Amino acid sequence: MDIVTGHTGWIEVVCGPMFSGKSEELIRRLRRAKIARKRVQVFKPVIDSRYSRDEIVSHADSRMPSQIVADANEILRHLDWRTQVVGIDEANFLGSGVVEVAQQLADTGKQVIIAGLDTDYLGRPFAPIPELLAQAESITKTLAICMRCGNPAKHTQRLVQSEDLIVVGATDMYEARCRRCFEPGVPRQEQFQFVLADREKTAMER
Ligand code: ADP
Ligand code: ZN
Repeated sequence: MDIVTGHTGWIEVVCGPMFSGKSEELIRRLRRAKIARKRVQVFKPVIDSRYSRDEIVSHADSRMPSQIVADANEILRHLDWRTQVVGIDEANFLGSGVVEVAQQLADTGKQVIIAGLDTDYLGRPFAPIPELLAQAESITKTLAICMRCGNPAKHTQRLVQSEDLIVVGATDMYEARCRRCFEPGVPRQEQFQFVLADREKTAMER
């Protein structure tokens, strides 16, 4: 509970694959909090500097100023304790510490809104979002549109070959796919292109 306002805090999580509108939804909720004249602070991990260093930005170019943190504890260090609403984007890049931090913030009366990927490029639960879901008062799962068939998509398909859990990069390195079209690991089309390229190479060498 907030000792000044007497308000109870809570945790809201917005999760889903890339391109599903998580950042848009986070920004929408934070804008409404500002309209309600609440004190708002927004954080994002340093790893996500894809578009802007001091703003969260959606794929459709919706923007909101934010503070960059290297890890979850830095959120507590940067926190103005008068803040009523705390937004965190790309929480899956902040490590497991974000669970404890979110709990602490909610326990002290803050409304915590967290956006992040719930599954990784192989479709596995992506820590620490699953644990946050267990602690949250409210959960929203956003879906994208499958780039293969147009159905609702819950997967983030990696289009480049890498075994690393985190490959941050241009949006053309990933696309949204539905359950049916998702290909964990290297997508077939990529392999096909490699095969074609190899064939062309051997043809040229001949
Ligand atoms: P996230 O934070 O989940 O990655 P964003 O909020 O940044 O998503 O972007 C959502 C926006 O991305 C949509 O409103 C739409 O304009 C655009 N977009 C691009 N590709 C897709 C897709 N495959 N499915 C849905 N929206 C897409
Ligand atoms: Zn599909």
